[in-house]
Amino acid sequence: MVDRVYNFSPGPATLPVDVLQQASKDVVNFKETGIGLIEMSHRSKEFMGVAAETESLLRELMDIPDNYKVLFLQGGASSQFFMIPMNLLGSGKKATYLNTGTWSKKAIKEAKLFGDIDVAYSSEEQTFNRVPSQDEYTVDAASEYLYFVSNNTIYGTQFPTFPETNKVLISDMSSDILSRKIDVSKFGIIFAGAQKNMGPAGVCIVIIREDLLDKTPENTPTMLTYKTHADKGSMFNTPPCFAIYGVGEVLKWLKKQGGVEAIEARNIEKASLLYDCIDGTDYYRGHAEKASRSLMNISFNLPTPELEVKFIAEAAAIGLNGLKGHRSIGGCRASIYNAFPKEGVEKLVAFMKEFEANNKG
Ligand SMILES: *Cc1c(COP(=O)(O)O)cnc(C)c1O
Repeated sequence: MVDRVYNFSPGPATLPVDVLQQASKDVVNFKETGIGLIEMSHRSKEFMGVAAETESLLRELMDIPDNYKVLFLQGGASSQFFMIPMNLLGSGKKATYLNTGTWSKKAIKEAKLFGDIDVAYSSEEQTFNRVPSQDEYTVDAASEYLYFVSNNTIYGTQFPTFPETNKVLISDMSSDILSRKIDVSKFGIIFAGAQKNMGPAGVCIVIIREDLLDKTPENTPTMLTYKTHADKGSMFNTPPCFAIYGVGEVLKWLKKQGGVEAIEARNIEKASLLYDCIDGTDYYRGHAEKASRSLMNISFNLPTPELEVKFIAEAAAIGLNGLKGHRSIGGCRASIYNAFPKEGVEKLVAFMKEFEANNKG
């Protein structure tokens, strides 16, 4: 593995090397069956075992209560943008959304197809550099649910604490699921595409409270009805077998690391290294307001766009890859999910100091 680089990609993102090595064996010959993992029936005893183990590890690591279903769906996190309102709204029904970035904006657009959408807060005019505190919005009394994105992958903001509400709380946790301890029982639905913090692309995990499975309007297509997948243990049709397996392997790895609490402490430590570097100089400017900073995605600028181009190129030349910011805000972004090693963050910080010294002008 000498030629692997530090990969700061926002997603698909760095996975533990041990997981990749194990997968490379299992894809060819799964558990001495003589059949590769992605060649076997999803109804085989072996694959059913993989799916069951993945679900039970997720339940254990997130402490998911028994009255929640765990679904393995396709169509990416983006399909949840319409599946949620399609299943929970309908004509005359209302929902409240907090607009804190590109992903919430896309969810709002889809939700408007299925109901009356109240956007109770937006930081769009401040280029989404913050998330609101509890006293900055009110949830409409008629709303079926309150929807928010816990970590804004592009802008590098994250809710430090979650909204308190008596409504059904729904969160897109695609870029911070399993990165910190949360109380699942406060939520109606949590969903996350696997490819940022949980495994390979191809599966979206939906954790849904059981009472929400009975709210779907009758004319909803079978495949787009949550209950279809809940009743069949995500095996109504062929599930994304490799992605489910990949998530399972990442969860085994996470358990070995000490679980969510242990990884949370490490995530705080890694992000602090970078934020301390940014705060220690005027040369680098963080995009997010301090109180809204993400532990997963750190977006920052240099004094000029030209210096940013140079910075990204020189970093890549020494094995620090994927630091270019999203096209919507430019600049740089370091995505340092659970599996991203601390040594890579330390190397980036050393490079940032050196680059500043050499290019201060
Ligand atoms: C990446 C991302 C998505 C989109 O995920 P897809 O699986 O590509 O549809 C949605 N929400 C958040 C917060 C993301 O980071």
